[in-house]
Amino acid sequence: MTGFRREASEILAELADLRAHDAPTHGGRVLSYVYDSGLAVLDALAADAARLVQPVNGLDPTTFTSVAAMERGVVGFAREVFHGDDEVVGSVTSGGTESCVLAVKTARDAWRAAGGQGQARLVAPVTAHAAFRKACHLLDVAYDTVPIDPATGRPSAEAIGGRLGPDVALVVVSAPSYPFATLDPIAEVAALAAARGVPVHVDACIGGFALGFAEASMPDASVPDLPAWDFAVPGVTSLSADLHKYGYAPKGVSVLLTRGHDRQRFQYFATTEWPGYPVVNPTLTGSKPAGPLAAAWAIIEALGREGFADLTARALRATAALRAAVDGIEGLQVVGDPVGPLMAVRADASVPADRRVDPHHWADAARAAGWHLQLQPALVQADGSALPRTTHLTVTPVTEGVLGELVPALVAAADAVRGVAPVDGRDVLAGLGELPRALDSAGAERLLASFGLLGGAGALPERMAPVLALVEALPAPVTERLLVELLARVVEPAA
Ligand SMILES: *Cc1c(COP(=O)(O)O)cnc(C)c1O
Repeated sequence: MTGFRREASEILAELADLRAHDAPTHGGRVLSYVYDSGLAVLDALAADAARLVQPVNGLDPTTFTSVAAMERGVVGFAREVFHGDDEVVGSVTSGGTESCVLAVKTARDAWRAAGGQGQARLVAPVTAHAAFRKACHLLDVAYDTVPIDPATGRPSAEAIGGRLGPDVALVVVSAPSYPFATLDPIAEVAALAAARGVPVHVDACIGGFALGFAEASMPDASVPDLPAWDFAVPGVTSLSADLHKYGYAPKGVSVLLTRGHDRQRFQYFATTEWPGYPVVNPTLTGSKPAGPLAAAWAIIEALGREGFADLTARALRATAALRAAVDGIEGLQVVGDPVGPLMAVRADASVPADRRVDPHHWADAARAAGWHLQLQPALVQADGSALPRTTHLTVTPVTEGVLGELVPALVAAADAVRGVAPVDGRDVLAGLGELPRALDSAGAERLLASFGLLGGAGALPERMAPVLALVEALPAPVTERLLVELLARVVEPAA
C-alpha cells in the first residue's frame, strides 16, 4: 500500500484544532443542542459501542443481526418507559425530524388506506416542532395550526377538537413543546380525536426520556404531578422520543413508537419493481450507520431505569433552581408552567418599561460571559394574538453542578441590560426602502451584507438580538430565503 498523503496524527491534530473553535459540548455552558449527562464513562461506553459496529450497514437487520437485536432492545425499553403494551411497536430512526416525518407518513398512508380522498390535513398547536411543517411539506399534507394561549403557552383541547374533520389524518401534541416547555392537554385532545377516529401523535422528542422518569426521579413530589401523556392515554396512536437528547446518545438516534402492528406497517416503504434487491425500509434512509443505535443501546443497558431516573432528578432539580432564579430577577418572567427540564423566559410586561429585561439583550449579555442561551423570535398567531420573544434554556444533568456560576451570570446579564429598549427590526427596515420580491443568490447576499450579516467564514455576529429583530420584522419568506443564503454560504468552499 502506498503511504497516506498526510500523517494520521497531523490530520487528527487539525481536527482537534477545528473542534477547539466549536461551542463547548460539555460542561453545561451551552443550554441547547447538547445534552451532557456529566458522566464521562457513559460517553466512553457510547464511543466504544459505536466503534464496534462502525463497518455495519443498518440497512439490513437480517444480514447484520446485531442491528435487529439492539433495535429490539431499544424499542422494548422505550415501550416500557412510555407505558405501551405489546401492541406498541416501533423503529429506531436517525433523529427527531425523521421520527416526526415518519409519523406523518404513517398517518397519511393509513388515512388513504381507509378511503381518505384528496389532500390530508394535520392539526397541531402552533408550538408543535417545525419538523411537522417539514413533514407536511415533503408529504403533501396540509398543515393546520391552532393558536395557543400566550399566557400559559398551551392550546385549548376544544380549539383542537373544533378543527377535526374527515380530512384530518393526524393530530400532533407535544410532551413538552420545544418553544415553551409546556405540556399540551394530551388526554383531552386524545379523547376528542378518538371519538372521531383521528389518530394522535405525541411528540416527546425532547422531553420523553426525561419526563418518562420524572415520577421515579422525584418521589418527594418536588415535581408537580403530571397528567398521563404517553401510551397510558387510550387515544394516543404514536409517540416520538429522541435518544440523542435526554437519552444522552451521540447525534443520530431517536425512536418512533406506534400503537398497532397494522398501523405501524404504513411506516414502511417497499418496492420490488426494479432489477436490484427488494427495497423494504421503515425509515427514510437506505444504508445507514449502526453506531448511534449501538451507543443508545449501550447507554440504556448501562443506566437502566434507575440511572435515567437519577439523571432526570439532577436535570429537574437544576430546572427548578433556575426557574426560581429567573423568578427572582426583576424584569424577566418564565413563560407558562414548564414541565420538562427546559423553559422559555420573556420580558415581564407587568413592570414599567425601564425595569424590563429584553430576553434577547439578556441572552447576548450572557453570551458575552460565556453562556449560550437560545433566542426565539416573537410571533403573531393566526388569530392575531402575539407570542412574546423569548430566550430558551435546555437544562441537563450537568447544569446542576454549574448553578453556582450560571445563576450569578444570569443575574448580572439582566442587571446589565435592564431598561434597554428591545431592538425593533422595523427601524432597521425603514432605511431600506422597498424589499425585492424574489431574491436570487446574489440579491440575498447583498441584502445580508446590508444588514452586516456576512462575517468572514460564516461567523455569526456577536450580538444576536438585532438578527432576531430582523427575523421578527421581515416577511417570513424573505427571512427564510436570507437564512438559506447565510447557511448555504457557511459551507460553500472559498471561490
Ligand atoms: C428536537 C425536537 C424535534 C426534532 O428533532 P431533531 O432530532 O432535531 O431532528 C422534534 N420535536 C421536538 C419537540 C424537539 O425538541
